[in-house]
Amino acid sequence: MSTAQALRALADRLKASDKMPVVFLGHGSPMNVIEDNAYNRSWSALGRALPQPQAILVVSAHWMTRGSTLVDVSAMPRTIHDFYGFPRALYEQSYPAPGQPDLAREVVTLLASHHAAEDDRWGLDHGAWSVLKFLYPEADVPVFQLSIDMEAALPEHLAIGAALASLRERGVLILGSGNVVHNLRAMRPGGAPLDFALEFDALFSDRLQARDFDALADRLSLGTLLDMAHPSLDHYLPALTAAGATDAGDELTFMTDAIDLGSVSMRSFVFHAA
Ligand code: ZN
Repeated sequence: MSTAQALRALADRLKASDKMPVVFLGHGSPMNVIEDNAYNRSWSALGRALPQPQAILVVSAHWMTRGSTLVDVSAMPRTIHDFYGFPRALYEQSYPAPGQPDLAREVVTLLASHHAAEDDRWGLDHGAWSVLKFLYPEADVPVFQLSIDMEAALPEHLAIGAALASLRERGVLILGSGNVVHNLRAMRPGGAPLDFALEFDALFSDRLQARDFDALADRLSLGTLLDMAHPSLDHYLPALTAAGATDAGDELTFMTDAIDLGSVSMRSFVFHAA
């Protein structure tokens, strides 16, 4: 099934559910914001298919912390242009959605056992706003970010997702933004997908479909393939948190599954109530 067909099939069912889906988007290059391509067209289509959330909690690859999980409680999160050497048009982008300080403080409480703390300095990095601009172009849904604790073991990122799962019943869209494969050193603009990228992407897809999330968080058994797919784990961890926020009754729909630039998987997925 193509991405467009998958999204059409998804649309009616999502509107009918009271429970918000969990979304993971491969965001890839910041250029996806200013180019017209299949990736951002699929984000726009997904935005039209999704029910209107009360708030959006974003776990982005680009907010890395060590030893704590921070939650942005600011009333008006600033737009962060956290990239270098890109066209001016990208630095002129803004995403002026309000925050949701009360809910963000509740999230700090929900994640008390994961060293959660309030933060009011971060805002929205490009992992968040580069996709939100297409999902909710009006910037009228409150949004706040959660950092990824780079010192937490992989299973803890699943557990953080599980601790957030109840928010889905309250109209909160949990959005992970990273990439299922992300090796910038191996990147080849215009190049064919590299073997390790295809292999890890396929393994991830298989385990996700089997709901074997523990396998995706088993660093030892993933071994060197994980190291090649993710020389640094920042773009992987949001996918684990998203998976952790699902339950056995959810259905899974994949969107894009392309490998971009040889070594960046754009695979995206939605877990939604059956
Ligand atoms: Zn990124």
